[in-house]
Amino acid sequence: MSTYFFIFKVAPTEENEQYDMIEGALVYCWVVEDNPEDAFSKASFYVSRYDWIIKEIDSYPIETIREDFIEKDLGLQYYDKAQEDGISIVFLAWSRDGKTMSGPKELKPSYSIDINTFLKIWKKYKNLGRCLHYDSDRRCKEIVNAHSIQRERSLSAIQYDGHVYRISADFGTLNKNKGKLSCQKVGVNKASTFLGFCKKHDNDLFEKIDNHPLIPTDEQIFLYGYRSLCRELFVKENALNTIEDQLNNGPNQKALKEFLSNWKQATAFGLENLRRHKYRYDESLKKKHYQNIEYVLFTSTQKTFIAFSGLFYPDFDFMGRNLQDLGDHKTELELITFCSAPMTSGWSFLFSWHVSNSKVCVDFMRSLATMIGEGRKLEDMLFRLVISNCENHAISPQWWEGLSDIHQKDIIERASKMADVLVSTQQSYLTEGLEGIADWKVDSVISNMEREPNKANVADS
Ligand SMILES: [Zn+2]
Repeated sequence: MSTYFFIFKVAPTEENEQYDMIEGALVYCWVVEDNPEDAFSKASFYVSRYDWIIKEIDSYPIETIREDFIEKDLGLQYYDKAQEDGISIVFLAWSRDGKTMSGPKELKPSYSIDINTFLKIWKKYKNLGRCLHYDSDRRCKEIVNAHSIQRERSLSAIQYDGHVYRISADFGTLNKNKGKLSCQKVGVNKASTFLGFCKKHDNDLFEKIDNHPLIPTDEQIFLYGYRSLCRELFVKENALNTIEDQLNNGPNQKALKEFLSNWKQATAFGLENLRRHKYRYDESLKKKHYQNIEYVLFTSTQKTFIAFSGLFYPDFDFMGRNLQDLGDHKTELELITFCSAPMTSGWSFLFSWHVSNSKVCVDFMRSLATMIGEGRKLEDMLFRLVISNCENHAISPQWWEGLSDIHQKDIIERASKMADVLVSTQQSYLTEGLEGIADWKVDSVISNMEREPNKANVADS
């Protein structure tokens, strides 16, 4: 990452408590980021939080090093602060009567998201259990803490002393670490559970994957994908509720409202797509049409150090090509699920998708094959994908503690970057990074992709 320095010219908004006195200000920004665009958008957001609007760009982002500020006391101080906090901003304001105000100074924003309130609301929804089974009704009384990652062989093989590590993106941690994620030890029973099924439905539905290794049968493949989907739906519903709650009951500040309503829009769009996918899976489940799922399975006879279960809408592939535009809210997004699954000997990395999503998902898998053909290591690419796209995971304590500081830092940095709502996803994010960390060895590939599409029952897709 580089440190970008640039200057905005700004004016106070009417909500700025110094609106009557100040006519304008120069804002000096030091931002640590991968590229000038992200540095710029991050600083713009911060400036809006401080009740200013940007009038013009006084100097465009340039890459700087510490030596550039050696002779400049204040500059050096802010450069160093940016290394620690990721960003540092200072205002030099002038008054309406034309006299320069005493500056530079750091101004306080007129609001900030009250993280404790946010956490409280988040927990409220998180603890609101409900059964996501298509046939759920009043009989679904006993909501259980269902594991979204296979427990018996997966989590238990990784845990040490009842604990696993998790790179945590929860609001509390983010607040403590100034927006950076951290890797924390958690009890294995806390890892990956969610209150998304009643006991009966959880037991009935997932018996074939909870109590048996992956063979794989079509039904098992279906269930692994279905569980990833249900867990994500549960989390996204909670997120939307939390944002709406904060939007309706939080402070009445224009920039904050705008930020929250953009966030709400994006979350609602993601959720709407998830519901559509779940409906398709539910229809297949009712009719036991498990062959509607296509998959690629990478198997390994070794042990793994990380268990995971997740999904995403593939935007860019392993070659850095654009597959679908996640910002286009008029389209239906195609979805891929992935997880680790225990096999009779060893484990496997499973990708699966509903046949109706083949257009994007097959291209995505082909890009992986192409890059292997070009000499890239499959294991590196798979590990990069998990760290970039899966916050629902559990890491072996022995493995994590045995990593070098540099590898730990690289992993946390990658996960932080992907979780940062102010930073855009780089088109090349799956093409490089985190090489040589995962000591996996894939032995074979199993797939049903070559199956004729009309053999699968697409009537209910
Ligand atoms: Zn139920």
